[in-house]
Amino acid sequence: MNKDLYVSSPLLPELDDFIPYLRDIWDSKRLTNLGPFHQAFEQALADYLNVEHLSLFNNGTTALMTALQALAIEGEVITTPYTFAATAHALVWNRLTPVFVDIDPQTFNLDPAAIEAAITPHTRAILPVHCYGVPCDVAAIGEIARRHGLRVIYDAAHAFAVQDGQGSVLRHGDMSILSLHATKVFNTFEGGAIISPTLETKRLVDQLRNFGFVDETTVVACGINGKMNEISAAFGLLQLTHIDAALQRRATFDALYRDRLDGVPGITLCRESDNHGYFPILIEDAYPLSRDQLYDAFRQQQIYTRRYFYPLITTMAAYRQRQQAVFHALPVATHVAQRVICLPLHPDLTLNDVERVLAVICEAPSVPLISRATPLTVSDSKRLQP
Ligand SMILES: *Cc1c(COP(=O)(O)O)cnc(C)c1O
Repeated sequence: MNKDLYVSSPLLPELDDFIPYLRDIWDSKRLTNLGPFHQAFEQALADYLNVEHLSLFNNGTTALMTALQALAIEGEVITTPYTFAATAHALVWNRLTPVFVDIDPQTFNLDPAAIEAAITPHTRAILPVHCYGVPCDVAAIGEIARRHGLRVIYDAAHAFAVQDGQGSVLRHGDMSILSLHATKVFNTFEGGAIISPTLETKRLVDQLRNFGFVDETTVVACGINGKMNEISAAFGLLQLTHIDAALQRRATFDALYRDRLDGVPGITLCRESDNHGYFPILIEDAYPLSRDQLYDAFRQQQIYTRRYFYPLITTMAAYRQRQQAVFHALPVATHVAQRVICLPLHPDLTLNDVERVLAVICEAPSVPLISRATPLTVSDSKRLQP
């Protein structure tokens, strides 16, 4: 009996290693409200990510909504339909108008030319996503924003520890937000962060995170409760001691998938990201099964892949009839959403698990392949031992 394989699996330390942290929390009775673990983890995470001004949050969605509040955005915000629903939801919860434009076929990130074409007198900001941890064209987006006087908030939920040559990708734009959710590369059960460009901006974010309080009796803004609790912060501190090994394992499995799927007819590999958070592939017409047939073939083998990001946000019931939204032509996003499938990629995998996944792709279609000129066999020399 094969074990179930999931697209992601949370990074978890040994339970015994976490008990002393819990004992500290029980002894101090400080459960939340920016306690000692919060302070320590906020600094340690900023150091690890090599950013200066980081504010922890209780999740990425609250962080995103708070970033939009901090910048006092109103009107239209240009964003991508090819992302997790929370990106657009954060706009709607701020009564902003999402303007959906198409993505680049190589990176699956917002296409700068499409952004520029969608700008109107009501446009106030751009909300790009570093999809799958692949950096956006930050230079082009920054240029467009400067020319049109727009704010840029990066949804960097996938971009933990992603660099771009000169440093962390999180330093770009007016703010970046991270998600530390259980399904992400680095988790604090639930969690998130805002990376601000200046200390002044971080101070404003920190006020909004805590109901707008600046001292016991003074409330200067209509803030929210975005605080990370002490258990999550303590857990984050312990997680930091394991993240490098986890990223290393991800890189190994990514390389194996990439090596073995390269050149398989009908399979398109996607850009590699620094943190190897996801392994999306596109199932093109030359492959003998449709994307959904392959998805079902995986399920029969207890392999639970995910079709991130399908459906497009613009086709979700909550959006497709929305008056307060603008829909531009989305040929690339539509093509990708119909063909994408994300393979299991996480540190709990074994080489044997990866072989199981590869076998479904390379062998499942063997019946319809009988008439094919090039059989989809993989050279035995390339097979790694489990
Ligand atoms: C996960 C995710 C979010 C939301 O983060 P939470 O921590 O789950 O609230 C936002 N945007 C993107 C692109 C995501 O993948």
